[in-house]
Amino acid sequence: MQAIDMMKIERSNKKPGILILFLLVTSMLTISVILSYAEERDSKSDGIRTIVIDPGHGGYDNGAQGPDGSLEKERTLYFAQILAKELKPKYEVVLTRNGDYQVALTRRASVANYHRADMFISIHAGGGSRYQMDNWSVFYYKKAEHRNDGKELRAVIRGNGDDLRLNWDHIQLRYQKKSQALAGCMKAQLAGNPEIREVTISAAALRVLEGLDMPAIIIETGYLTNPKTEKRLNDISFLTDAAKSIKKGVDVYLTR
Ligand SMILES: [Zn+2]
Repeated sequence: MQAIDMMKIERSNKKPGILILFLLVTSMLTISVILSYAEERDSKSDGIRTIVIDPGHGGYDNGAQGPDGSLEKERTLYFAQILAKELKPKYEVVLTRNGDYQVALTRRASVANYHRADMFISIHAGGGSRYQMDNWSVFYYKKAEHRNDGKELRAVIRGNGDDLRLNWDHIQLRYQKKSQALAGCMKAQLAGNPEIREVTISAAALRVLEGLDMPAIIIETGYLTNPKTEKRLNDISFLTDAAKSIKKGVDVYLTR
């Protein structure tokens, strides 16, 4: 009897034992999840800034092509990856694409907004008829002067999606002064690079910058259609120096 009673007692103790173990494991898991959230929040409140780098073009969209066959989509990704390496020790860096695939412009902006980025830098390498040009350009967003031309009007009356696009372009307008200041910081640093002949700043209604909820610029790293530029955009030491200049521009802007 006694032995049977003991077994009964042992059996009846098993359930609370399992329950306690279960509670212990779940509470430990809960604590670890809370701690990891806290770490994430701390890293943001510790002032680690997020920089989104956007390599222009990709996939079927090659962008410009150099006389030796270099494609803008390849050069922009290559440079973006070098720039990311320079920025990473100090900043959280997000690339809008990390391979050869197409990414919609609105998707690029959404990625930056989702990450609550402190800055958006789009990389391009131009081309077209301006093969003789050898300068770098930094662009920031400016509202189109002829927003109410026929094309825009058609876009508005087409439906909700297009109404949204108009609101979308107002988002970056709120950062016009900050983006202009960022462009100025970039120009100052890039112009100090002896390999870069000239740096110009321009404002334009560029769709890649629409919808970005943070200071945003496009850096045109020269014109790929210029043979000299094409060589430079394949030269890792030149690109690393240029990336260091951009990193300094980021540092200066964020610590003003
Ligand atoms: Zn481009």
